[in-house]
Amino acid sequence: MSLDHPKTPNDLSAFWMPFTANRQFKQAPRMLVASQDMHYTSHDGRQILDGTAGLWCCNAGHCRPKIVEAIQKSAAELDYAPAFQMGHPMAFELASRLVDMSPEGFDHVFFTNSGSESVDTALKIALAYHRARGEGSRTRLIGREKGYHGVGFGGISVGGLVNNRRVFGTLLNGTDHLSHTYLPDQNRWAKGQPEHGETLADELERMVALHGADTIAAVIVEPVAGSAGVILPPKGYLEKLRAITKKHGILLIFDEVITGFGRLGAPFAADYFGVMPDMMTTAKGLTSGTVPMGAVFVTGAVHDTFMTGPEHMIELFHGYTYSGSPIACAAGIATQELYREEGLFQRCADIAPYWEEALHSLKGARHVIDIRNLGLIGAIELEPIAGEPTKRAFTAFLKAYEKGILIRTTGDIIAMSPPLIIEKEHIDQLIGTIKDVLDTLD
Ligand code: PMP
Repeated sequence: MSLDHPKTPNDLSAFWMPFTANRQFKQAPRMLVASQDMHYTSHDGRQILDGTAGLWCCNAGHCRPKIVEAIQKSAAELDYAPAFQMGHPMAFELASRLVDMSPEGFDHVFFTNSGSESVDTALKIALAYHRARGEGSRTRLIGREKGYHGVGFGGISVGGLVNNRRVFGTLLNGTDHLSHTYLPDQNRWAKGQPEHGETLADELERMVALHGADTIAAVIVEPVAGSAGVILPPKGYLEKLRAITKKHGILLIFDEVITGFGRLGAPFAADYFGVMPDMMTTAKGLTSGTVPMGAVFVTGAVHDTFMTGPEHMIELFHGYTYSGSPIACAAGIATQELYREEGLFQRCADIAPYWEEALHSLKGARHVIDIRNLGLIGAIELEPIAGEPTKRAFTAFLKAYEKGILIRTTGDIIAMSPPLIIEKEHIDQLIGTIKDVLDTLD
């Protein structure tokens, strides 16, 4: 299919698109050809309001000059330098800055290129940590139903989204999954954190009783589950998980790939909830989505235990060609400066109540059966069509795009996570357009 825009190619067949119904897409492609601040430009020349910060990542908005210039400068001055047995200043500078802005206790950062790599890295560090303490029997990794931790083998093994697992055969041995925390009967229409469900964390005690604490290395959860359609932690739930993991010497990993870098109005979800895990996995907002980069935040306690373990373990036999690559670090430094200069995390906190009210004004709109929100995250759940689940939300997505807004759907849920520079009139446009679209849906 040929598109009437000079930047778009005639042949779309070669690119096997990720997480996309390829045949369907290629019959009626939607191409983005430029971006600025809150907007994309579509191939047919329309301004599309970005309600999703790309894929939950462009927290500072698009093509911000400070980040663009930093990337350009690094590309011209130091395009690439290895981080194995060599260093370059920007990687150390970015790591220090990240440690400085992270909750007390996080002293080290391991660079990766994506959320998936951050997750697999954190799981490996957890295993190596226990071995270094002479507890090599702790190999079990516990995730959660509906959890999304990227697409590496570690991530899909602890993950709990069935479609992402089922065609890939045997995954990692020795994983288990806690229940998810979506309790529509008790928590429907809750604004922010729901009241009910804290005791779901007690399942971890039961798993400990079943498997034995000496077999369990780590528990990994998204503080706010994004990809499953925005599932929030009930009040007290994360605190309880922390208490139980601590009691049994199990590491707690927060997957902050979505929640990190301001999405909840604080640097990390750990700050927002006041619950301190042992590791945090991040990516996305680290560079505001501009250059692929991830980072695992590790506490001094975990790092130092590993480093003072047996001699053969003091080097972590793990890393990526592009771990802490210069252009990514330049983007990361500029992004963090921009967040700070513009106070974007606070801005998110300030506008979150308006976002919440606007979202919940859709209560009573056609087809809407639940609304969930926290920080600048929102979900609108639609009643599924019998026999055709997901159809209604996907049709809403297509119609919304025609009307000039970008939203995401997962199952029957519309999910949104706009850039943190969003203004009230953008929120009005997003919600107003969704309302119009829902009115026209069968
Ligand atoms: N963890 C979480 C919580 C995520 O939301 C995502 C991506 N949406 C990932 C991991 C994977 O990140 P990536 O796509 O960069 O590998």
